[in-house]
Amino acid sequence: MLIRNTAVGDRECDVRIADGVVTDVVELTGGDAVRLAPRSEEDVLDGGRVTPPFAEPHVHLDAALLGRRAPNRSGTLREGIANWSALRASLTEEDIRERALATAQMYVDTGTLSIRTHVDTGCEVAVQTLLDLKPVLAERGVQLQVVAFPQEGILRAPGRREQWERAVALGCDAVGGIPHFERTTEEGWRSVRIAFDLAEENGRQLDFHCDETDDPGSRNLEVVCAEAIDRGFSGRVVCGHCTALHSYPNPYAAKICELVATAGVQVVANPLDNVVLQGRYDSYPRRRGLTRIDELWAAGAHVGIGHDSVMDPWYRLGTGNLLDAASMAIHLGHLTSEDAMRRVFRTLHHENHLPFGTPPEIFAGESAPILWWDEPDEIEILRLRPRPRVIS
Ligand SMILES: [Zn+2]
Repeated sequence: MLIRNTAVGDRECDVRIADGVVTDVVELTGGDAVRLAPRSEEDVLDGGRVTPPFAEPHVHLDAALLGRRAPNRSGTLREGIANWSALRASLTEEDIRERALATAQMYVDTGTLSIRTHVDTGCEVAVQTLLDLKPVLAERGVQLQVVAFPQEGILRAPGRREQWERAVALGCDAVGGIPHFERTTEEGWRSVRIAFDLAEENGRQLDFHCDETDDPGSRNLEVVCAEAIDRGFSGRVVCGHCTALHSYPNPYAAKICELVATAGVQVVANPLDNVVLQGRYDSYPRRRGLTRIDELWAAGAHVGIGHDSVMDPWYRLGTGNLLDAASMAIHLGHLTSEDAMRRVFRTLHHENHLPFGTPPEIFAGESAPILWWDEPDEIEILRLRPRPRVIS
């Protein structure tokens, strides 16, 4: 495959892909470049933009597509949790597998080939089913990571911690947690330390649902950062949501943004869920509930953008297209400067890969697949949300 006159970052290039590898990237800017000539029987595309594939850092494949089966009539987090608890015990391997594969296909169709899913460790059949899907999806070119997520906390009731530990032992890639959902502030902090202990013992990454509340008194992110620094976990910890940061007093928020950057903790915003699930105790003015993406960027922190729910008990909408989540982040975060919009687009194919390792780039020698967009301008891609062509 030869792609001529195509945008790569802020350059215009000819790009060749052969036998699963990007073999040539020739920059045309300057005019004296030797153009790549089509070989016989080689497919040729012209124009548009090429990027690495997108990565999804935060979704729940065990609950995906259940939203129609158990409608959340109030649209609240509380009813979402109740609906999920009612459904969870009746889920079968076949049902979980079918929904997870259908959702993964939605991601593939819209350019996402790496998916990090959380799995509720209160449902062992879901844990085993999603772990079993890793090789199945790998054959289809999709990298799946599974986070052992204790949906109902580890300290609130007997048995939950053991279920969570068993999920990690079964082979989950990362240890999850939900400190703001534990009974007390102290127990929340304790749950963070227990999660670090488990990750250390088993050589795993960490991925918390952290401070997913409007309560400015929910201060688990600082504990996660301190533990990450003290235990040398820089680059191996993700904190999803962090919506309390939206509501922290500004001096404390400034301290936290700096601490997140220093700790090498990645914050993953989930704007589609956050905007409908947060602010539920507000009348007006009603808070947006999105973490402070712009201030985290300014502090030098890594921010990812997740879809989180795809038509599940918490969020009835969603298509598995990360451009939808990106568009929502732009709107809610006032990220409408030209630079901010381009940075949001780049997040999907760059920072979102950090949980999976070094983000891919487009250069000669890099393995395919890559995405080709029939549109060179990132902002137009965000506006129109076209489907990319996956080229391998
Ligand atoms: Zn989540």
